Amino acid sequence: MLDKVLIANRGEIALRVLRACRELGIKSVAAYSAADANLKHVLLADETVCIGPAPSQDSYLNMPSIIAAAEVTDAVAIHPGYGFLAENADFAEQVEESGFVFIGPKAETIRLMGDKVSAIEAMRKAGVPCVPGTGALKLEDADEHMRNARELGYPVIIKAAGGGGGRGMRVVHSEAALLNAITITQTEARAAFGNDQVYMEKYLERPRHIEFQVLADGHGNAIHLGERDCSMQRRHQKVVEEAPAPGITPEVRAQMGMRCVDACRQIGYRGAGTFEFLYEDGEFHFIEMNTRIQVEHPVTEMVTGIDIIKAQLAIAAGDPLPWSQDEIMVSGHAIECRINAEHPTTFMPSPGTVSLWHPPGGPGIRVDSHVYTGYKVPPHYDSLLAKIIAHGDERPSAIARMTSALGEIVLDGIHTNVPLHQEIFQHSAFKTGGTDIHYLEKRLGLK
Ligand code: ADP
Repeated sequence: MLDKVLIANRGEIALRVLRACRELGIKSVAAYSAADANLKHVLLADETVCIGPAPSQDSYLNMPSIIAAAEVTDAVAIHPGYGFLAENADFAEQVEESGFVFIGPKAETIRLMGDKVSAIEAMRKAGVPCVPGTGALKLEDADEHMRNARELGYPVIIKAAGGGGGRGMRVVHSEAALLNAITITQTEARAAFGNDQVYMEKYLERPRHIEFQVLADGHGNAIHLGERDCSMQRRHQKVVEEAPAPGITPEVRAQMGMRCVDACRQIGYRGAGTFEFLYEDGEFHFIEMNTRIQVEHPVTEMVTGIDIIKAQLAIAAGDPLPWSQDEIMVSGHAIECRINAEHPTTFMPSPGTVSLWHPPGGPGIRVDSHVYTGYKVPPHYDSLLAKIIAHGDERPSAIARMTSALGEIVLDGIHTNVPLHQEIFQHSAFKTGGTDIHYLEKRLGLK
């Protein structure tokens, strides 16, 4: 096993990684910014190193500072969590070149899958179904763009190859708007991602977002842990996630899961990863792969009983996967609510001091959160405060447990989106299951 792991992240995921390290007897180093000295995992870690001032650019995105922190503490590996440098191939490369283990795939895999155009090409080759669309667009090919869009049929969506976090996308409804949309998306992509490559896809009008979790050990073994439904979104950001996805049969799960597993073998994948698909009219269309742990991983853990973070650590230590595919069972149903520090109707961020925090509990409830009474939510970072996960024998019992848990939450001093979740859990369409990615925004009157 690894001797000492440096956690290059913050918030709930840093605490989640620390807990996994503790269970495995791995020593932990919290690399934190000057705004985060009071984070729960920083208070609990075996060692701590301040890696820079509050702005992420100077701390959680500061590669030399993070690598120096690993050097001075004699850590052997770096866990990047999600966000920040988790999918930065240059960082993975520098970590490994400096003699540390990067807890994730090889840099070349991150590079391949981080560029959506090359990722889609690799997936097409591996036999994974993709959204009908083009490769990278060349600005000067106006006639070709129009031909492509006509062939795909409007609406189409222009997407940045280097895009992420729901940014760098533009839907086009008519030929008149096409060329302008391409130019604007390119300009934005250059500024936001340092990569102005864009491509075109058919815009699917009522798909669900269904993704498959995989684990691969880098020795040729790979398995899938079934799927999650993350269709409840606002601004392309997930709000509620669940596993399994309503209406997906064990046969379809096995078939799609195996396609992802085959793709992992073909690209020499190592670590935990997620294949994201849009699912419409019974067909799956690959949109991208996330080469890291995801926020919503707990719902998969709850239905499979597998600790994905511990699996990441074991894989990074060079262990072969201890499970074969037929040992993976999906049992019951799990749902996760992302509790954010934001106003429930305006969605404005709401930093400040948590004057009282009383998390929910009881059978089947899991809470992943770094919050405590008196904790001051800094304004500099993502607004995720807590993830509430409810597990039940079936979907209705998971919904009942979550409804009860949401009613128990006491989080005073700042605004949260708990009322939004409470409303979602009353919707009859949500209770039925299988709503598409536009459902929430339509329901909120945002579309
Ligand atoms: P990101 O990396 O920013 O998360 P994705 O490619 O994963 O970008 O897309 C994020 C979301 O954008 C999807 O979950 C979906 O809601 C929407 N989206 C992306 N591509 C399409 C498409 N071709 N048709 C319809 N919606 C899409």
